[in-house]
Amino acid sequence: MDINSSNIEAIVRQVLTEMKGASPAPSASAGSIPSTAHVAMLTGLEKFEIKEYPMPAVGDDDILVRVEGCGVCGTDAHEFKRDPFGLIPVALGHEGTGEMVKMGKNVQKDSAGKPLTIGDKVVTCMIFKDNPDITMFDLNKQNVGGADVYGLLPDDDIHLNGWFSDYILVRGGSTVFNVSDLDLDSRILIEPCAVLIHAVERAKTTGILRFNSRVVVQGCGPIGLICIAILRTMGIENIVAVDGEAKRLEFAKLMGADHVVNFKDHKGIEALAGAVKTAFGGYEADFAFQCTGSPIAHSNIYKFIRNGGGLCELGFFINGGDATINPHFDICAKEITTVGSWVYTLRDYATTFDFLKRAKAIGLPLEKLITHKYPLEQINEALQTNLKMEGLKIAIVNK
Ligand SMILES: [Zn+2]
Repeated sequence: MDINSSNIEAIVRQVLTEMKGASPAPSASAGSIPSTAHVAMLTGLEKFEIKEYPMPAVGDDDILVRVEGCGVCGTDAHEFKRDPFGLIPVALGHEGTGEMVKMGKNVQKDSAGKPLTIGDKVVTCMIFKDNPDITMFDLNKQNVGGADVYGLLPDDDIHLNGWFSDYILVRGGSTVFNVSDLDLDSRILIEPCAVLIHAVERAKTTGILRFNSRVVVQGCGPIGLICIAILRTMGIENIVAVDGEAKRLEFAKLMGADHVVNFKDHKGIEALAGAVKTAFGGYEADFAFQCTGSPIAHSNIYKFIRNGGGLCELGFFINGGDATINPHFDICAKEITTVGSWVYTLRDYATTFDFLKRAKAIGLPLEKLITHKYPLEQINEALQTNLKMEGLKIAIVNK
């Protein structure tokens, strides 16, 4: 073996890193941390401004993270366009990830019990400052709905509260996960993937979803596409995707759908239900995932499902209005078991890390879901691209 000087340098560096990991100094930090941080602050409707703030002090339970990237969520787009949460001025971005550059002396492990060291890549989940029990990893009793998350907090005198920034201060009481074994694209996709891990867990409670189930997924935006990838990764082979856009249906095949149905090719629900049945070789679906926010799509989906089948409705992240169904034909006569799903729990977050590794191992190109990457300075453009419904997942990626 040829040991040259660069090998030796690498070995020395590794040994030094390990030593640092073994006995972290109080308030350990890595390299030089700039004296100011930059935050994309939403200061008005459709207007982000890059603000510069002094780098805050890192308390004994806090972690300073250098942000690497953050996905743009539909929630960010709603807030950008209409401020429905009344948060302006606000530092948005909740699908973020980055590298720990400084940590308080009390910080030792992540929320799953994994050690934390300077240089580790992390994500945050919900903040349960007022309910410390729920930050325990094995408690699965509450989903994140209604909890605080970074990126949807009111502004305060620290300002580093969202992931659309170059630094974020993760305060004590937050849930943090060490995800150093995932690449950047995978880490940006954790939050939306957790939504689907939760939905599939909800679906499993019906007892109807099995390896050989015929499963229809309606809606091929990021949510529906990730749903297909999860079903495929867990070994479900017989998947039909329904959408109105040929490009998205092609993507559905990449994620593992065997057959696709474009609803624009079929006039009326009878014809559409017939096409789904044909795609399954003459059978109705055993189980359906409804992944659109359209009330008509909710009304339609019952027609795809066999007697005794199941449905998971997860498309209505926000109030999308009322949907009409016929309780006799759609639910009673068919004896359909329905579950709803909204956001995720802490446990789902940890399951998601393993899913991302398995999906990669079986060759599903999940990273292709990120169709647009913008630097922080172009955040207004990134949000406009999202509003125009161009591409799939849009991300802010720092240099
Ligand atoms: Zn989100």
